Amino acid sequence: MSDAVLTLNAGSSSLKFALYTVGGPAPRLMSRGQIEGVGTAPHLVAKGPDGAVLAERRWTDADLDHEAFFATLLAFVDDHLGGDRLCAIGHRIVHGGADFSRPVLVDDRVLARLEVLSPLAPLHQPHNLAAVRLARSGRPGLPQVACFDTAFHHGHASVVTRFALPRTWHEQGVRRYGFHGLSYEFIADELRGLDPALAAGRVIVAHLGNGASLCAIHDGRSVDTTMGFTALDGLMMGTRCGALDPGVILYLQQQGLTPDAVQTLLYEQSGLLGVSGLSSDMRVLLASLEPAAKEAVELFVYRIVREIGALAASMGGLDGLVFTAGIGENAPAIRAGVAERLGWTGLTLDGAANRAGQGLVSATQSRLKAWVIPTDEEMIIARHTMEVVESGGA
Ligand code: ADP
Repeated sequence: MSDAVLTLNAGSSSLKFALYTVGGPAPRLMSRGQIEGVGTAPHLVAKGPDGAVLAERRWTDADLDHEAFFATLLAFVDDHLGGDRLCAIGHRIVHGGADFSRPVLVDDRVLARLEVLSPLAPLHQPHNLAAVRLARSGRPGLPQVACFDTAFHHGHASVVTRFALPRTWHEQGVRRYGFHGLSYEFIADELRGLDPALAAGRVIVAHLGNGASLCAIHDGRSVDTTMGFTALDGLMMGTRCGALDPGVILYLQQQGLTPDAVQTLLYEQSGLLGVSGLSSDMRVLLASLEPAAKEAVELFVYRIVREIGALAASMGGLDGLVFTAGIGENAPAIRAGVAERLGWTGLTLDGAANRAGQGLVSATQSRLKAWVIPTDEEMIIARHTMEVVESGGA
């Protein structure tokens, strides 16, 4: 009998999970899946490591709550442990604030400190924490480990974390934190195995999914990133605006928008969706002939290139790029658009390798290297969860 770890990544309408056998040199995936469409058309699908569907279920009752889905998920886990013993649950928690620089065992005190951070990540943190509470009541006594998207960015220089606001606000936590750290940590580890020389140098990782950010990594350590105080900053995203002149927010308020309306506008109605007026899904936009869809794609690429310039300056140079997440891994046209605008750096992609979209995609003569590396946040959560459990939560 082996031990097993369940990882959870809870959003507003979805719950992603993965189940790993642990105890060997690295966690071994048994199953991964998600419950999506919570509140509309709920649907569970779980697949094995080879992609074969292990379980699938649809519900007609849109009113079912997270508690009901969570019970279904735990029943699925019990059915598929195959004699293994569930020894811990690892949670993706978006915001760890200034205090949490590494994964921790969750207790009442930790949970209360994380609740305070909910306004800083209103789209994610309340759902992440709701899953922790459900898991604690569904499996009392089982260790629950919080793994933070902010933790990889701890150790940034003070000049990187500070806004040009009066010091008192910085002391109250109004500073840049950075997100997507679980993904960046995974990519930094993978790159060390794939290209140790590049991993020792200055690399910008482009995590381009529904949420999108860039991270400047020097010798495996995050030195700067595009997201700041919240996951709204930096790049244009699926429905989020990215960096914005703060004067726009003042103007919107003067136009009579309430804080809630501004929040909805900036988090849920902007980005690719807002500019295209069509969709937040990059596949839809790339296939569309609508001028507004083309403009949204062009702006997405432009913002990436502009921020790459800023991060390269903050690292004092650039040796390579890594593309990852839904768009970064699957959209050759976006990678080609970024590379074209970065021609001045000496970056050239290999056309065929870029279309294939796996591994090294830069041309042999390119001055910068470019890789496509699939991210796996669940694997990092499983590893950290075991480390915390084995260390007794210290
Ligand atoms: P999340 O941030 O929700 O984890 P993902 O990393 O799954 O998001 O990325 C979702 C994005 O990836 C969507 O915009 C989707 O359109 C895009 N995407 C997925 N597959 C492709 C593809 N083949 N071509 C272009 N974009 C893709």
